[in-house]
Amino acid sequence: MADQLVDTFGRVHRDLRISVTDRCNFRCAYCMPAEGLDWMPREDLLTFEEITRTARIMVERYGVTGIRLTGGEPTVRANLPELVGMLSALGADLALTTNGVTLPLLAETLRAAGLNRVNVSCDSLRQDRFADLTRRDDLTRVLEGIDAAVAAGFDPVKVNCVVMRGVNDDEVADFVEFGRSKGVEVRFIEFMPLDADGIWSNDSVVPVEEILALVEAAGPVTPVRRTSAPATRYRFDDGSGTVGIVASVSDSFCATCDRVRLTADGQFRNCLFAVSETDLRALLRSGAGDDEIAAALERSVASKWAGHQINRVHFVRPHRSMSQIGG
Ligand code: SAM
Ligand code: SF4
Repeated sequence: MADQLVDTFGRVHRDLRISVTDRCNFRCAYCMPAEGLDWMPREDLLTFEEITRTARIMVERYGVTGIRLTGGEPTVRANLPELVGMLSALGADLALTTNGVTLPLLAETLRAAGLNRVNVSCDSLRQDRFADLTRRDDLTRVLEGIDAAVAAGFDPVKVNCVVMRGVNDDEVADFVEFGRSKGVEVRFIEFMPLDADGIWSNDSVVPVEEILALVEAAGPVTPVRRTSAPATRYRFDDGSGTVGIVASVSDSFCATCDRVRLTADGQFRNCLFAVSETDLRALLRSGAGDDEIAAALERSVASKWAGHQINRVHFVRPHRSMSQIGG
């Protein structure tokens, strides 16, 4: 057995994203269909024990160092702090991506349970636009959630903003100012073709150079040395903070990708855009030993492709939307 999850291109995988639910209390236009989705039956969801067992194998055998909980909206999964406690005992850096709306209630409990870092998604600072985009009028609560995360001591707190042409690209400067005033890093993300209603088009993507130009209008920046993280980070030359840009479409980071994903129903995905999955839930529930599960993980990663094919003729959209895969 290998001691790393390595693919045929030599990429070593150390970052595990776990979707803990496909449910969500928002229905963001770029992620969920307007009419919502049929939620998975409860028995289809991996239990906390099944999630932790899979994560343990990956941490202990393959040196996975980062685990991020996502969804759907992870904080709607009942007893999430209990899962955080179980996973934090594994010793990996544990993070959460959330829409932030429940953080005013949960931030301190999650911190106490062992969560290290939080990313809050927020795509508009204008109340009416936020309500249109998320189909829920809760901007105030999300902003309180960001404050609650900072107050609870999460470091860093990041804000994820998906930039869409003609929708919110006029707010980049406002987000820069917001990040500076709150001491949080805003990460601008290119819109990816993982929406449920087919609203994505190439024209709706605001490419990295354009986002960077909008950021630079707020002051000169210098790039921070790049790591395997998908965001290219920039520091404002006046010392007023940093921003990140995730150029997932125009300048994909596939060549250095170190991520794998586990869906809420226990499907292992070696790429966000993968069109096939490995059924770990079936293995976990069939009494398979750790070696058998580890072998399935290795096989899946070994077969990972070089990168997504967005904008190529042979690009095939995954059958799941972002909320079902976990961002
Ligand atoms: N509900 C949580 C949230 O909104 O942060 C976690 C799940 S959400 C699917 C994870 C991330 O994916 C969010 O930051 C969201 O903005 C991002 N996302 C969703 N759909 C996207 C799309 N089509 N393109 C780019 N990012 C997207
Ligand atoms: Fe829910 Fe997050 Fe998708 Fe919005 S982006 S619909 S909050 S899963």
